[in-house]
Amino acid sequence: MAHPGNPDVSSDEAALDVFHSPLVDRLRESNPANVWTLPGGALRLPRVFGFCRGVKRALAMADRAVREHDGEGRIILLGEIIHNPWVNDYFRRRSVSILPHEEIFCVEAHLRQEDLAIIPAFGVPLDVKHHLAKIGCRTIDCSCGDVIRLWRWSERAVSEGFGVLIFGRATHDETVVTKSRLAAAGGKYLVVETLNQARKLAEDPTDERFRELFGPEQTNAPDLDPFGHLALVSQTTMLYSETVAVQQIVREAFTRRFGEDQAEQRLRMQPAVCKATQNRQDAAVELCSSGCDAVIVVGGFGSSNTRHLHALACQYAPAWLIEDATAITSPHELRAFAPETKTARTASDWLPEKRPLALGVLAGASSPEVVIGDVLKRLAEFLQ
Ligand code: SF4
Repeated sequence: MAHPGNPDVSSDEAALDVFHSPLVDRLRESNPANVWTLPGGALRLPRVFGFCRGVKRALAMADRAVREHDGEGRIILLGEIIHNPWVNDYFRRRSVSILPHEEIFCVEAHLRQEDLAIIPAFGVPLDVKHHLAKIGCRTIDCSCGDVIRLWRWSERAVSEGFGVLIFGRATHDETVVTKSRLAAAGGKYLVVETLNQARKLAEDPTDERFRELFGPEQTNAPDLDPFGHLALVSQTTMLYSETVAVQQIVREAFTRRFGEDQAEQRLRMQPAVCKATQNRQDAAVELCSSGCDAVIVVGGFGSSNTRHLHALACQYAPAWLIEDATAITSPHELRAFAPETKTARTASDWLPEKRPLALGVLAGASSPEVVIGDVLKRLAEFLQ
């Protein structure tokens, strides 16, 4: 059945065999499902993991465009198709050039009429679309339906006189596009990146010290009155529990200031993160809270939803985010994501000595099963 947000998911998914893993397929069908029992313990996967519908659709569309390309002109991806190095390398190997995200703003310097442009799942700013139309090149738009819905919802709020509060990372591709669309619609926006910033906003938005918290990329209107008429949206891949907490903080602040009836009229809220993100986070919590001795999270370091799975897992057990099986150099050493520096660091003694061992394995919505399968095989070597 087609996903309501992504109606064009089609049999093209079948063409994505390159991302599949027979091992992961077998584990999904195992009993109990998603568990690989080994002599030294078990590898346990959550009930939902890996590619979401939006990612599958984007990859199927991009893959079909590459297969059907007649060789005239170049194929150029306007930023990473999704934030996963394996997937982007796959397209590079098929002669697709990937423009760094910051370069897409001067797309006219990079593309010619005979080229084929592919818009990634996060979308591109409207300006870039206008430039593509001027260049006259063919364009395949892989923007996710859930992201498009978020843009339309917030643009409508702007047209009805609301300022927009975005809970997200101001420099994340999706939020960059959301901001650009709001600005193009004549709207004012403010991005809060953390719960702490949301709390400070709720306390006293006129406090100058609070204003200093915002970088230039976080607002297009330093004069925006957050207690005017406000519409709250969240980047689709944020931590669900935090989006709910931000909603509560803002709702309480409005109610304190205006009373319930007025707050109702002044405040509008979009329903949190996308379902795929929420389902993966719920399933990750179920798995981690059921008792894992350690957790490996598989996905790109630049993937927001994967990093949030890692943050969730860390609340329950020692957890490491790795990009692929080659990161596991030995039972004593692995290359994992360091949240402080947002780069890779070498972690030692990551594998508990206890046997039998329960190892949880999580994977973000942009993690291909082929990579998850390789990680599982590597981990299984230590549980023989
Ligand atoms: S995580 Fe959600 S918003 Fe992002 S591509 Fe998947 S379905 Fe779309």
